[in-house]
Amino acid sequence: MSDYIASIGLEVHVQLKTRTKMFCACPVLDEGEPNTAVCPVCLGLPGGLPVTNREAIRKTVLVGLMIGSEINLRSAFDRKSYFYPDMAKNYQITQQFSPLCLGGVVEINVNGQTKPIRVNHIHQEEDAAKIIHFEHSSGIDYNRGSLPLMELVTEPDMSTPDEAMAFLLALKEMLVYAGISDCNLEMGHVRCDVNSSVRPVGTTELGVKSEIKNMNTFRGIHRALTYELQRQISVLRAGGVVEQETRRWDDDAGVTLSMRSKEHAHDYRYFPDYDLPPVVLDAVTVEAWRAELPELPAAKRARFMADYGLPEYDAGVLVADQDVAAYYEAVAQASGNFKAASNWVMGEVLRALGENNLVIGQAKITPEALAKLMGLVEAKTINLTVAKDIFQILFDKGGDPEALVREKGLAQVSDVGAIEQLVDEVIAANAKVADDYRGGKEAALKFLVGQVMKLSRGKANPQMASDALTRKLGGAI
Ligand SMILES: [Zn+2]
Repeated sequence: MSDYIASIGLEVHVQLKTRTKMFCACPVLDEGEPNTAVCPVCLGLPGGLPVTNREAIRKTVLVGLMIGSEINLRSAFDRKSYFYPDMAKNYQITQQFSPLCLGGVVEINVNGQTKPIRVNHIHQEEDAAKIIHFEHSSGIDYNRGSLPLMELVTEPDMSTPDEAMAFLLALKEMLVYAGISDCNLEMGHVRCDVNSSVRPVGTTELGVKSEIKNMNTFRGIHRALTYELQRQISVLRAGGVVEQETRRWDDDAGVTLSMRSKEHAHDYRYFPDYDLPPVVLDAVTVEAWRAELPELPAAKRARFMADYGLPEYDAGVLVADQDVAAYYEAVAQASGNFKAASNWVMGEVLRALGENNLVIGQAKITPEALAKLMGLVEAKTINLTVAKDIFQILFDKGGDPEALVREKGLAQVSDVGAIEQLVDEVIAANAKVADDYRGGKEAALKFLVGQVMKLSRGKANPQMASDALTRKLGGAI
């Protein structure tokens, strides 16, 4: 690879989160009986007239705004003609000549290095139906037909499979954050065509590219690219020529296979769709939509580091889920102890969520209750071990930590008299260890403190127990 440079570009199709399809009122169903969400428009029956889904347009514009695209205030739909059973009209409605969003940049981070990946454009289109193959026949499910898609096309700015992966993860994070798409890969919400080429180091003209069609897992994309780049390099090294073609990834065999020589735009006879008026937006509407955008992950990470003094690692973990981030902020503000709040949320909260397979909204412990619990530890009313037990009760059932501590008599024993009594009992029961300590064996103290904690069932103030022991055994405090 070292004497060749790779150029990778992606065409990412994302299913937008809308209630209805792109050009009709049929509901969007991820699951359900085949051909139950269909109508004359999405079945392509004669006379059916499409109407553009405004929410789909709004969501695609939001993506453009997030990545700094120029929003095209007058875009239009075109017909891409082809004959295949997954498209009953024999053409797909897309935007070939005048897409909704132009340009833009997505920043990726690979091995601590930030790199801008340029986006050429984002256009709006409809999905094809799903073809299902049985043993001796095939079926078509038109529920998928005409679902709203945006297609984001990058420049060939990525140069390794890792960078392609980082791009997809960054894009997915943004889209989920802003509620554009659920990006559920198993449901086919994100599908990718992967263009790649290689050229010798020292040259500037891009090599001939191949396109791997319809990839639907990020891991598959990484494997397919790793294979494909190596294949192209091998062809060139052997003195051959890379063909411009469409290939498909065989996941079981771990190879890409030639499907057909690359079609050209004129093969699709693109022409304007005369059933649909152009999409006309005005700057005021676009600005109103921009105001609805949430704070994006990268900005939120930077703010968490600046405002709460969190390390980059903490910010990354907390921001990965928008609701967890909001929960953390509530705990941080209620407790005033930003790093401790981060430790609790990253530690106990995420652990308990993971173990119970829950999302933060389902946890019974409110941010205020967690902040109070942290306050009890800080005031030394309870120690950390007890606090973790109380946390679990609050997580499962909710409630007030102070009331729980009172109810269960869990407050830390910080009464000198009571602690001295415990210490006396422990010294009497462990005379040999006490002698070891008197004889200079420092480690014996730890054992004795442990015994005091055990005798108090975890409630003794450990520092006070340690102080009382050294005092009674004649050591220095
Ligand atoms: Zn329909």
